[in-house]
Amino acid sequence: MRTEAENQKRVSELLAREWRMLVNGELVPAPEGRTLEVTSPFTEQVIASVPDATTDQVEEAVQHADAAFPEWRDRGPVARAELVRKLADVVEEHLDDLALLDAIDGGAQIRVMAGDVRAAATIARYFAGLALEIKGESVPATPTGVHFTSRMPWGVVAKIIPFNHPLLFAVRNIAAPLVAGNCVILKPSEITPLSALLLAELAKDVFPPGVFQIVLGNGPDVPRTLVRHPLINRIGFTGSEPTGQSILRDTADTGFKEVTVELGGKNALIAFPDADPAKVAAGAVKGMNFTWSGQSCGSTSRLLVHESIADQVLKEIGALLARHTIGSPLDPEMDQGPLVSKRQYEKVLDFIARATDDGAVVAAGGGRPAEYDTGYFIEPTILDNVDPASHVATEEIFGPVLSVIRWGDADDPVAIANSVRFGLTGSVYTNDLRVAHRTAQRLETGTVWINDAGPHYLGMPFGGFKSSGLGREESLDELLSYTQLKSIHVLT
Ligand code: NAD
Repeated sequence: MRTEAENQKRVSELLAREWRMLVNGELVPAPEGRTLEVTSPFTEQVIASVPDATTDQVEEAVQHADAAFPEWRDRGPVARAELVRKLADVVEEHLDDLALLDAIDGGAQIRVMAGDVRAAATIARYFAGLALEIKGESVPATPTGVHFTSRMPWGVVAKIIPFNHPLLFAVRNIAAPLVAGNCVILKPSEITPLSALLLAELAKDVFPPGVFQIVLGNGPDVPRTLVRHPLINRIGFTGSEPTGQSILRDTADTGFKEVTVELGGKNALIAFPDADPAKVAAGAVKGMNFTWSGQSCGSTSRLLVHESIADQVLKEIGALLARHTIGSPLDPEMDQGPLVSKRQYEKVLDFIARATDDGAVVAAGGGRPAEYDTGYFIEPTILDNVDPASHVATEEIFGPVLSVIRWGDADDPVAIANSVRFGLTGSVYTNDLRVAHRTAQRLETGTVWINDAGPHYLGMPFGGFKSSGLGREESLDELLSYTQLKSIHVLT
């Protein structure tokens, strides 16, 4: 493992390059030298200028993708999967550099971002391995005919991703549509674009021109041009609820498109009275993803704990957080870096202030750690006695803030958990198998963990109920969703 100084040195080397997008197999700048600035959330300094594409350039990319599609589709799944595996290999070979870029422009800890790069390669190989599962079915519709379905790619697919797992999402989100025979245009987050732009360099010689392209732009113009484009029939989006709504409106206005939206969460961890307080505390800390400063859609940011064990659980959480370290994202000894941006930092502080106005009590953290004057750091914050109907308990914060809601025998914790409009994940701590199963059935969420919080299991569909989104990923369902069914009737 490299030291912080060694990481810093390598980052300086990496940042010395000219950043380019990938269009039609070429690494290209934006026209007229248009750039946008990338700021480090640790130093608060500008660390890179990256291309800021025009909508004409997006149009060009769509035309190239459309032209490349027939040949890519007709290669067949095994040949396509081979190239996706090759991409996984190249990503893994550049693991350290990709993780360093994610750490420096996103702020999350280097060890964690290295885990993201490994996961990205694994997921790409998983989808490559499923290539021959793109199958149809035969139906005995007539006694002598042959009636079967065949799965066809959509054509050009737009993938729009958020800031919080830049490289993981860049690779994970393109693997399934590429294996399924689509050409993909990726739009990374303008807040954390660096690892995707290094990916552009790495992928340039892996895929034929036009099959995989990366465009980047400041503000909504570039992604909206993709969303509204008549040649794009399939959009995969991961990000916030308002952007998801905007995409659905845009697609309704511009044609009939298949859209997946993976959105936010306000996830509950329910601790029943028979649960071990130490295990609940460990689950609550792990589920909060403090190592990403809580910036993860699946974070269990509401702890619904029975009043009989609440004090003990909070004491155990306090002990765990006392060992939690905050510092440079490039220091491998640290647990947590800064939040991604000033905007995110200010938003989280506003949430904390409003929560205390609404009667919540700060049981741990509550603001910037005393030892840092620069960097968008916020300590892991525990808010106790939170009203389940209050702003902090119902809106996604996307920061290191855990709201503790105590419940008693007269309350129904599942009803409290379900009372928010989101439905991404839920977690249940109990030793009673009957309670565990009943609660899992009643929770209105796409994922439920029993006696755990946080992990994703490849092959198990991930996605949200209610306002947490439409569609499922990380599974065969995702691969098949990048195809459309055709029924063929052969009559003899
Ligand atoms: P965001 O919605 O602000 O941005 C996401 C992407 O959408 C960016 O690339 C952005 O440039 C683009 N975009 C902006 N305006 C657009 C428009 N009008 N049309 C199309 N695209 C547009 O999200 P963010 O702040 O980057 O990410 C945080 C959010 O993502 C949180 O709400 C989090 O819960 C969610 N998220 C969800 C999942 C999941 O799997 N459900 C995973 C990670 C993050």
